Amino acid sequence: MHPKSSYIRIKFDKMLQENVNLKPFNTFGLSVRTKYYAPFTSVKDLKSLLSEVKNEKLLILGGGSNVLFQNNFHGVTLRNEIKGIELIEENDRNIVLKVGAGEVWHELVLHTIKKGWGGLENLSLIPGSVGASPMQNIGAYGVEIKDVFESLEALEIKTGKLHTFFHKDCQFGYRESVFKKDLKNQFVITSVTYKLSKKPQLNTSYGAIEEELKSRNITQPTIKDVSDAVIAIRQSKLPDPKEIGNAGSFFKNPVISLIQYQELQKKHENIPSYPVDKLHVKVPAGWLIDQSGWKGKTFGNFGVHKKQALVLVNYDDAKGKDIVQLSEQIIEDIKKRYGITLEREVNIIS
Ligand SMILES: Cc1cc2nc3c(=O)[nH]c(=O)nc-3n(C[C@H](O)[C@H](O)[C@H](O)COP(=O)(O)OP(=O)(O)OC[C@H]3O[C@@H](n4cnc5c(N)ncnc54)[C@H](O)[C@@H]3O)c2cc1C
Repeated sequence: MHPKSSYIRIKFDKMLQENVNLKPFNTFGLSVRTKYYAPFTSVKDLKSLLSEVKNEKLLILGGGSNVLFQNNFHGVTLRNEIKGIELIEENDRNIVLKVGAGEVWHELVLHTIKKGWGGLENLSLIPGSVGASPMQNIGAYGVEIKDVFESLEALEIKTGKLHTFFHKDCQFGYRESVFKKDLKNQFVITSVTYKLSKKPQLNTSYGAIEEELKSRNITQPTIKDVSDAVIAIRQSKLPDPKEIGNAGSFFKNPVISLIQYQELQKKHENIPSYPVDKLHVKVPAGWLIDQSGWKGKTFGNFGVHKKQALVLVNYDDAKGKDIVQLSEQIIEDIKKRYGITLEREVNIIS
């Protein structure tokens, strides 16, 4: 063993564990090992860890619900377990909450609903941690985290300094933020601050929410009703990672120009779209994959989910490399058929 490695192990015995299997820490359920595994529960612990592992490759992990490991990880996996929900501002209309990045996202949603604070109900049951919520500006059923985001604190890995990022600094886009682009792998998000509403305006027009509420005979829904409806819809549609390994939508819905869309309509009459702006539309990636015959395709222990063409799955002990390869084949095929290049939503870790 490298002398530095044994030094790390002795000094940070409790914080740094060696050669750990990450299977319980990624929703794809891939059996991969990390050279070191280091959970941390405070900014102070994170700082000490970072100062000791300077020359190691780093991976920041939350709930592991948006990552795909290609191989074993030859570095330090830092698992964010910073907890705490702090009420930092309140008036007649709003509530401002500062939340530890290691809080479980859905537990935060349930907490706010119990309190009657609106804003997160459409984002119920998204797996993962609070710290990852701004990473890809999580979204579902017509709401994105940017709609309630106030600011976040993040530790710069290079300097060990804590920075505050406000809305404009994060460059939120569709499943995008500055932390996935220019600042990739440079910051560890330690807390996120959200502004919620005491007089919420419900957003029930998207997806099947209205239908679900109708089937429950609810005409004047509360935030709890909306959350319950979203949970029911998600449970009926998406595979539960506890049963089948997956990371939700594997690809983003591509945004294409209206001109390209109109050209495609000549050949594919039924191609669906959602407006983005006057010149662009979003095409459901699931439809493209389904129409191309990939839905339900199984290759031994991995494949494309039977009900959800957008979800790639690990049925049993698959290799990350194989799933990446499958995603490449799908990308190539869709490009050939439709001239559209699909982009992965899931973060590939190599
Ligand atoms: C069944 C299922 C359904 C899903 N549905 C949705 C959905 O509806 N909408 C949606 O947007 N997403 C969805 N997802 C994707 C996923 O839940 C979200 O992207 C979630 O925010 C990931 O959180 P995490 O803590 O698991 O992140 P991880 O998978 O642990 O990490 C994701 C990325 O963020 C980085 N990261 C994580 N925490 C931090 C931090 N504190 N600081 C810096 N970087 C960090 C990691 O390095 C990695 O690059 C779904 C996933 C599954 C499995």
